[in-house]
Amino acid sequence: MSDESNKGVREIRINPIVPTESVLVATARGMRPKKAEERIERDTRTHVDTCPFCRGNEDRTPPEITRWPEQGDWEMRIVPNLYPVLGDDSPSSHIAFGLQQVIDGYGRHEVIIDHPDHGIILHEMREDHLSTLFALFQRRMAELYASDRRLKYVLVFKNFGPAAGASIPHTHSQIIAMPVVPENVQNEVTHSREHHRKFGQCIFCSLIDEALTFEATIYERETGQVRRKIHVGQYVIERGERFVAIKPFASRFEWEIHILPLAHEADFLQASQEDLADFARVLRRTMARLDKVVGGVQFNFFLHSVPHGEDYENCGDSYHWHLEICPRTSIPTGFELGSGLFVSTVSPEDAAEALRQVEIDELP
Ligand SMILES: [Zn+2]
Ligand SMILES: [Zn+2]
Ligand SMILES: [Zn+2]
Repeated sequence: MSDESNKGVREIRINPIVPTESVLVATARGMRPKKAEERIERDTRTHVDTCPFCRGNEDRTPPEITRWPEQGDWEMRIVPNLYPVLGDDSPSSHIAFGLQQVIDGYGRHEVIIDHPDHGIILHEMREDHLSTLFALFQRRMAELYASDRRLKYVLVFKNFGPAAGASIPHTHSQIIAMPVVPENVQNEVTHSREHHRKFGQCIFCSLIDEALTFEATIYERETGQVRRKIHVGQYVIERGERFVAIKPFASRFEWEIHILPLAHEADFLQASQEDLADFARVLRRTMARLDKVVGGVQFNFFLHSVPHGEDYENCGDSYHWHLEICPRTSIPTGFELGSGLFVSTVSPEDAAEALRQVEIDELP
């Protein structure tokens, strides 16, 4: 990269979608590196006799809600969480919003056993397996929304590795249906609605357009002088026919990546089979890149889609569903926890370049 200005970035970046969130990008030499989160030892066993999520041990989970396929060996199953929300929470749980309200009454907490293979990781799963899994997410989300009108949000997420809150090593995701909208989703909804009211555009679509086409100019706040121009195409990590994986300009986590549909769509439940197939492909390639660059990384992903209920019916034009992938490579410092200001010691530009340039093996 010829852009010298990327060396030693030190600036506060405002999240363009949620302006109340910001990140300090401080890559200058001499900046003390943060304490690294442990890489996890890969457990590549395909079957573990004592694992409640392995085939043959179905009686060790609560009675299943559904499985796919219904006949023969299952490829994925949904079961109630044996330790629903608060019982299951680890101190590093990142779903610590309104949890009290979730357990008071009518929340639901379920586990999706992603794959029968105990130690498989996301990018090793076949694309058609992943797209079937996403279709299963859709189906279960729709059922949960329909089951109780008071449920406002169904969150699908994945924790991978103990630092990311996963207590069972066998690959799995989780669904929490709750009567409140998580604060970060609510913030995105509020700000994107405001942006749409002012500019008549979906801010997510604008950011995608920018990432694919334009240069952005960063101005000095006080003087209005051009501080530097950045070629924003550099934030694109992976592009499919219908989806794009982007490194956010102001990411909280060094290796954070968001995947969004290229065409405007507020609700994940509206994604078609063809959409899910391309989504699977882009996610898989993105995770393969991440694994090559920062192998063994612990991560969370969160599916953000427009909440249901009458308060959100007018968000169809302003909200844009997406998947947030948050690799946990460093332990938050006291400063971060105390100030709420995240510090990134790798510039998003450098992270994106590394992810984009790495060669990944051709996936079958
Ligand atoms: Zn297992
Ligand atoms: Zn949009
Ligand atoms: Zn989001």
